[in-house]
Amino acid sequence: MTQLIKDPPFPHNYASEMLGLERGKGVHVWDTEGNRYLDLGAGIAVNALGYGRRDLARIASRQMRRLIHVSNLYATRPAIDLASCLLSLLGQRMGPFAAVQFGNSGSEANEAALKYARLYARRTRGPGHHKILSLSNAFHGRTMGALSATPNKKYSEPFEPLVPGMAVSEFNDVRELESTLNNEFAAVIVEVVQGEGGLRVMSTEFAATLNRLCREHDVILIADEIQTGLGRTGPLFAGELVGLKPDILTLSKPLAGGLPLSATIIPAKINDLLKPGDHGTTFGGGPVTCSVANHVVNTIADPRFLARIAERGKQLTMLLDGIVTDSDEISGRRGTGLLQGIVVEAADTSARIPEIMDSCRDQGVLLLRSSSDVVRLAPPLVIGEKELILGVAALRHALGL
Ligand code: PLP
Repeated sequence: MTQLIKDPPFPHNYASEMLGLERGKGVHVWDTEGNRYLDLGAGIAVNALGYGRRDLARIASRQMRRLIHVSNLYATRPAIDLASCLLSLLGQRMGPFAAVQFGNSGSEANEAALKYARLYARRTRGPGHHKILSLSNAFHGRTMGALSATPNKKYSEPFEPLVPGMAVSEFNDVRELESTLNNEFAAVIVEVVQGEGGLRVMSTEFAATLNRLCREHDVILIADEIQTGLGRTGPLFAGELVGLKPDILTLSKPLAGGLPLSATIIPAKINDLLKPGDHGTTFGGGPVTCSVANHVVNTIADPRFLARIAERGKQLTMLLDGIVTDSDEISGRRGTGLLQGIVVEAADTSARIPEIMDSCRDQGVLLLRSSSDVVRLAPPLVIGEKELILGVAALRHALGL
């Protein structure tokens, strides 16, 4: 039976009882009592290559012995190689980009993207074009700027007033977008699959409208691929699924195989306007995280690796569709690739979803939640066919199927 750690010395914004984890291997983690769990959450969509990777440990430790930190005053080979690699991969898929601003977290990557967009608007059009548009149910992070672009009172209300100049338009509503977006805006920030906000997937029509309107009004289109990026939805970038043509793309969660690293990838039209000191970070893009990230990105970008994810994604779709058919309690499946979930219909989802997730945990399977009514699966990208079947079987059992 699972033993939870009670009242850990963390702030009360975290759970008062937590599973204590000690080690991991492949797609499994072990708790402090020695119980094994199949992890279908991957540290919130981070551990793309799974746990206990000797290759990642070897690369990190070699780099740590050589050089751990240099700051943004100096360049290192791992950081240059990673930036070049990301620019080339993105260039082949989504058009030309010019430079990579490294950071340490998803929020920080989006924070940089919002700043670059405002700087671009101000330096090209002058003041008065600073508004930022985000979409309903979006999640872009918890720092003040990213939080202000996250239209969810649950996250933002205690911290108001937020950054001014923010507006919201309905996700996938082409008409509303057309009537909202104009040249008062510096940027629109979007997710192709809303990772935290219920796993809705952007329509190709909505993506095409975003591309067109942003071009017409010279508004910077920011694709937040913090959760969807690097293979999670099948292609390397989720924008490829719907033909999104972002000006800026942000990456983080899986980038360095579990170490904190983010990338804000910008086009020449922004880069050409930047002056030394406009933006920066002390730790972002350090040689240790970048050396690991080079290996992670090259591994995931291999077409055979991506083809395997697409296959596992199709399998997951089938397994979850089976649950939707068999359970009166589940009204639908959302998401795509290895970022999918089921929508729970209950009078009180805030009680029912933890019940489902606790039952799975007690059966040795870890899951995530997305918004108030979706149970989310975001397994390591290396998950096998049998492991997915076992994981979904636990979910079926938790639902009484
Ligand atoms: N953007 C998206 C789409 C996310 O899913 C998240 C985190 O879940 C973030 C931004 C924020 O990332 P972080 O928690 O690393 O700041």
